[in-house]
Amino acid sequence: MMIDDQCFVAQTADAKILLHVTNVCGECYRDLHEGEPIYYDLQEYRYLCEACAEGLSERMNEACEIEEEGGGLF
Ligand SMILES: [Zn+2]
Repeated sequence: MMIDDQCFVAQTADAKILLHVTNVCGECYRDLHEGEPIYYDLQEYRYLCEACAEGLSERMNEACEIEEEGGGLF
């Protein structure tokens, strides 16, 4: 599964981010660790772990909007 780089900016967690921005995923709240890939969510302005970024990517349309279950155009 690809993570949409229009919606998420891939980064590597470093000490600066972990110390000054966040050290938990904005979605599942699990701890982020230095050196792991993290994704900045351009819609919600938060950092996500890889699993959450992938999960949200799957549910997003081209405009980076979350498609609600059961609704939408498809
Ligand atoms: Zn997460």
